[in-house]
Amino acid sequence: MAGAELIGKEECKEVMDVLGTGVFARYSFDKERQGIWKVRDFEKAFAKYFGSAYALGVTSGSAALKVALTALDVGPGDEVICPAFTFMATYEAVLEVGAIPVMADIDDTLNLDPDDIPNKITPRTKAVIPVHMCGAAARIDKILKVAKKHKLLILEDNAQGCGASFRGKMLGSFGQMGIFSFDHYKTITTGEGGMIITDDLDLYHRAEWYHDHGHDHLSTVHRALDGRTIIGFNYRMNEFQGAIGLAQLRKLGRVIAAQKKNKAALKEALAPVSGVKFRMIPDPEGDSATFLAFNLPERKQAMIFQKALKAEGIDTTCFKDNLWHYVPNWEHFLAKATAQTKTAFNDPRNRRVAYSRKAIPHAEDLLGRTLIMGVGVKMPAAKLKAMRQGIARAAATL
Ligand SMILES: *Cc1c(COP(=O)(O)O)cnc(C)c1O
Repeated sequence: MAGAELIGKEECKEVMDVLGTGVFARYSFDKERQGIWKVRDFEKAFAKYFGSAYALGVTSGSAALKVALTALDVGPGDEVICPAFTFMATYEAVLEVGAIPVMADIDDTLNLDPDDIPNKITPRTKAVIPVHMCGAAARIDKILKVAKKHKLLILEDNAQGCGASFRGKMLGSFGQMGIFSFDHYKTITTGEGGMIITDDLDLYHRAEWYHDHGHDHLSTVHRALDGRTIIGFNYRMNEFQGAIGLAQLRKLGRVIAAQKKNKAALKEALAPVSGVKFRMIPDPEGDSATFLAFNLPERKQAMIFQKALKAEGIDTTCFKDNLWHYVPNWEHFLAKATAQTKTAFNDPRNRRVAYSRKAIPHAEDLLGRTLIMGVGVKMPAAKLKAMRQGIARAAATL
């Protein structure tokens, strides 16, 4: 679990700085905070690392999606194209702003298929959310081209691809806006937390104002004297999250280098297994290597191999069977069961959108015979050796 594996004295020191001032909020208390601005520093360091003009810390990756969609003016009456393979938050965020998520197929990258976008476009389509699942890029160059042709906005959900890149450019920095998550499972973690990046000052302002009740943060005197242009809400990151984020960001390069090494060793063990093919990664150099995904020619074989690996103590996930990351398995979502009775789903002005397995044939086939294993930062030689032997024994059952 990546960054969470490396939490140590660097994070402690950063957190102690915050405890020492007694100011846990990111804004104001200029005198009391004794020059300590952890969220601000984290944002600056993050923007620099990702080659982006602006970064905004928020409470979670889910909040980041909602704040970004709001800044992009996506709302009631709009449709947003999202891949069938993603975490639920992508779809939830679209609903949260009053828009309708439209499900599209994946390609051999396991990410949004650029060729399926035109099939899902209607006059109401406003944006596309490519999701860089399991640490590696979608065919983002092609997706950008399709979006440009059809005048659609791009919000990259890069919650799972922090530190990954495509042809030398960081994922998250391709679209109008990009978001990251720092929950416990992600490549770097602040417990809960998220980040939005953009090169567009106007979008940055709209996000920044919205995420803090409309405060324009231009007052040099006191927060109570801030001006405001738009109505907002509260999605503010706190100083502890900023502090831990600073320490974790410094470790991101190390996390990815270690994962790449470990992934290469696991790949070597799987390569000789008859029928095994690896996930298409558009730019292997830019892979963050948090996961290793491979497939077998038939679902039946994949199921047999998964069981045999499990018997060897090697866990893999088949995401066609996963309850949280594959739209056709979200029974509450398919039932359009919301807490409120009046939502985008049952607004008579909206199009009735179906989430049928028939609309995503490639996902139905490929995800059903793909197995995915997590790649750790700390995988000692003895563990890798045991896994290699386990893989070889499991392969004998095929
Ligand atoms: C984790 C995740 C999110 C949500 O992030 P949180 O910080 O957990 O709210 C959004 N999208 C994807 C693809 C994720 O994996």
